[in-house]
Amino acid sequence: MNIPPEWNGLVSEQELLSRHSTFRIGGPARFFSQPKTLTELETLLRCAKREGIPFVLIGNGSNVLFSDQPFEGLVVSLAGYEPDLFEVNGNEVRVSAGMNLPRLALLLAQHSLGGLEFTGTIPGTVGGALAMNAGYGRTDGKPNQVGDFIKWVKVLPGEGNAEELGRAAIRFDYRSSSLAGKIILEACFELTKKPREDILRQIRESQDYRAVSQDLQHPSAGSVFKNPAGSELSAGKMIDLAGLRGFQIGRARISDKHANFIVNLGGSTAVEVLSLVSIARETVKRKFGVELELEIKYVSNETPAYAG
Ligand SMILES: Cc1cc2nc3c(=O)[nH]c(=O)nc-3n(C[C@H](O)[C@H](O)[C@H](O)COP(=O)(O)OP(=O)(O)OC[C@H]3O[C@@H](n4cnc5c(N)ncnc54)[C@H](O)[C@@H]3O)c2cc1C
Repeated sequence: MNIPPEWNGLVSEQELLSRHSTFRIGGPARFFSQPKTLTELETLLRCAKREGIPFVLIGNGSNVLFSDQPFEGLVVSLAGYEPDLFEVNGNEVRVSAGMNLPRLALLLAQHSLGGLEFTGTIPGTVGGALAMNAGYGRTDGKPNQVGDFIKWVKVLPGEGNAEELGRAAIRFDYRSSSLAGKIILEACFELTKKPREDILRQIRESQDYRAVSQDLQHPSAGSVFKNPAGSELSAGKMIDLAGLRGFQIGRARISDKHANFIVNLGGSTAVEVLSLVSIARETVKRKFGVELELEIKYVSNETPAYAG
């Protein structure tokens, strides 16, 4: 498989995916690119389609586990996409899918716009957060989720030109959305006026709480499993009660601080992480009769052409 001529200067070859995942795990990708504009992105997609090259889309790789094996296709990261797109119009904010969430939360604080301060400690991009309907904590007893603040989202469908989807055309569920499988380019959030100091204090409180409750010293992809619907117990609590807190295979370990985190102690592999995933699933199934569902996305040659 040769590099299509249009990709010269746009694509790197044999890029280690461990450099693009917060887990710091992953073999090389045959092709890798971080497009900055829609034209660059369209060039990548057009040639991949023409040449039959499978492709996978990521943001900051903070919810992804890459296989240890070489990926025989193109990985596109939108983490650097349209980096300057941030427009405020009253209570509405238009942002690039590539915008880093902690940066977004700080920019919104500068404009005294509240609602999304819970994203200030989530290490992903706006695109990844919308595909996953990322969330953290509760306000007035209701879980905070990015989908609740959406006015519209601009996407590139599998075929055709970019289009804007209004809020009513999108389904947001717990850690998933109907946007997964499309390419999210930008989004417009509807927020509310809030004192800057209150927003900054809330971000600081989340940082402090995470520092005591989660292992942020070691690479990870955050929570590995979704919390099971209808269960009193969280996935982490079940793994903990099943006696697996601190259980280790090779250099991968079920976190001592938060049993729904698997951490890379340095030099861990995807095989080790997946072994811990299987053991956690089997043990929780045996003890609680509950099937844990993965929250993280596993990316390998066997995953479909698009990791949505
Ligand atoms: C320490 C730590 C703490 C975390 N805490 C939280 C938390 O509190 N709450 C939470 O919800 N998550 C949390 N996460 C997980 C992760 O940060 C979020 O899911 C985040 O929103 C993923 O964004 P990303 O850009 O890194 O997406 P990636 O991990 O790169 O991708 C995730 C999925 O989104 C898709 N995707 C990415 N970009 C786009 C796009 N532009 N268009 C369409 N699809 C796209 C990918 O194909 C993939 O399927 C945490 C992770 C870590 C490491």
